[in-house]
Amino acid sequence: MTNPCIICVAITGSLPTKENNPAVPITVAEQIESTHEAFEAGASIAHCHVRDDQGKPISDPDRFAALKAGIEKNCPGMIVQLSTGGRSGAGQARGGMLPLRPDMASLSVGSNNFPTRVYENPPDLVDWLASEMIAYDVKPEIEAFDLSHIFQAAKMHKDGRIRETPYVQFVMGVKNAMPVDREVFDFYVHTVKRLFGKDAPWCAAGIGPNQIVLNEWAISSGGHARTGLEDNVRLDRDRLAPSNAALVKRAVELCDKYHRPVASWQQAREILGLRAA
Ligand SMILES: [Zn+2]
Repeated sequence: MTNPCIICVAITGSLPTKENNPAVPITVAEQIESTHEAFEAGASIAHCHVRDDQGKPISDPDRFAALKAGIEKNCPGMIVQLSTGGRSGAGQARGGMLPLRPDMASLSVGSNNFPTRVYENPPDLVDWLASEMIAYDVKPEIEAFDLSHIFQAAKMHKDGRIRETPYVQFVMGVKNAMPVDREVFDFYVHTVKRLFGKDAPWCAAGIGPNQIVLNEWAISSGGHARTGLEDNVRLDRDRLAPSNAALVKRAVELCDKYHRPVASWQQAREILGLRAA
């Protein structure tokens, strides 16, 4: 297998705190430094959330702008992906950063349960976020928490609400949502190939100790991999991850194991059909 593997690093997320792991970057300065280390270790996409001065998740466009500018300056070429996830704001505030024209943004196309609440993605908000992504030339990454989300992405692509072939990420292991199940994973891969073509790129993320499981499944199956402290703060049961870069290195080792080169940012942009940096 020679197709390069894109490693995405989800640096911060909405939930982890310094109490969970002191290496979780919270301030923009910490986020830029942590992203730079992860970039040097092999990540070519930075999936980003921002926090307020108390560390709470927000969707403040100014803070996103500062983070995006810092990554572009310190990690030239790296793909910046901003989160429009529902933990950081409500309604259209979730898309208030899209006019910054990041390379990519996450897009959830359906609702499901999260550990303690409903992850609400009502159809009108999904359509509005998708239309803003078209208006500002932002490539969506479809967060598939359920099989139906892959079909919804296909429908949105077919009727023009998503412009290019959807790039789907399978998210497994969120409590109360899709568990980590190999047969479902294989069916997800099969479904993406059936709906979007056998060479359509896809990626996968696992939560907590399942991060490494999903990394291995994706890398050995020709997909792309997401790692980072947003999804998992530990190296193993006994050790906290010392950095985002340490989690990226773990994914790089799996790429070596399965004879997949790690995608450079140039290769990642080509695979995803993104504009040159
Ligand atoms: Zn996220």
